[in-house]
Amino acid sequence: MALAEAGRIIREGGLVAFPTETVYGLGGDAMNPESSKKIYAAKGRPSDNPLIVHISDLSEIDRVVRKVPETALRLARRFWPGPLTMILEKGEEVPLETTGGLETVAVRMPGNDIAAALIRESHTPIAAPSANRSGRPSPTLARHCAEDLDGKIEMILDGGAVGIGLESTIVDLSTEIPTILRPGYITLSMIREILPQAQVDAGIIRADSGIKPKAPGMKYRHYAPRGDLTVVRGTRQAVVSYINAQLAEVSARSLSGGRAEKTAVIATRETASSYQADLVRDLGSRKDPEEIARHLFGVLREMDEENADVIFAEAFDDTGIGAAIMNRLLKAAGGKLIQL
Ligand code: AMP
Ligand code: MG
Repeated sequence: MALAEAGRIIREGGLVAFPTETVYGLGGDAMNPESSKKIYAAKGRPSDNPLIVHISDLSEIDRVVRKVPETALRLARRFWPGPLTMILEKGEEVPLETTGGLETVAVRMPGNDIAAALIRESHTPIAAPSANRSGRPSPTLARHCAEDLDGKIEMILDGGAVGIGLESTIVDLSTEIPTILRPGYITLSMIREILPQAQVDAGIIRADSGIKPKAPGMKYRHYAPRGDLTVVRGTRQAVVSYINAQLAEVSARSLSGGRAEKTAVIATRETASSYQADLVRDLGSRKDPEEIARHLFGVLREMDEENADVIFAEAFDDTGIGAAIMNRLLKAAGGKLIQL
């Protein structure tokens, strides 16, 4: 069986890409420093960017953290298994290689049957960042893992398309005020139902604010397509007009003897037919932000597959899961936002 084989690989210090409900993870034994080093090497990831440790049962958390505060237990009861990662004080057994040198550790119980079975088969917590090459969009299909990591890892478990499509919400419980370090499917208001004092890290509220984010990974360029991506915010009509005017300028430039540039728009079901670009991709309906979230990373990858040079994306409301969508989209655009 593939799962038994995958568990053996992890126990013996190898790497396995596997599906979770958020994105595909690149897993290794969280307690083995050599496994964590291999994860960094396979991804080309800076070694100060810590990994998330995955468990399959709450009883396993005592091996990973020094102590479990009441706040963590309450969040775990409400949101685990599920797309929520908690930052807690590191347990002694967890090597610094896994935590990027930090005395805190990120821990999560994924809500995906294959992920849970893999952790059980491995008989160890699994350290797993997203299974992409560092800087690329996170993988939402097994094929994306193969594109980035084939030949560098021992195995890929194919569980089909993931359900959520954006990485987990990260909440820091190692400080006095519970603080969201990365927005995700579990929103601030959902966390505030359990911990009313919870806040959002100032470094991620605005991608262009210049305040350094507290999660080490959030400071790196991420998700970025090779083409030049700009996000445009405004009323529907204003956004369509602005983007079409920009597209016309690019075409005029190409026609007047410049290098031919391939144009692309990342649009929504409501607007996709309104654009005059070489490539238009529809993320889904604005009425269904979860659909938009599910498709975002795959569409960002398509921009590279199709060799798009100049890319415009419509902005989304910052409410609910929209905060996570906009966080990833603005990172992909290097903070480039046109406000109409
Ligand atoms: P990835 O799974 O690839 O999305 O990467 C894991 C994310 O968790 C990175 O952005 C890290 O910065 C963040 N993270 C992991 N451990 C910690 C920690 N101890 N403190 C703060 N952020 C963390
Ligand atoms: Mg990642």
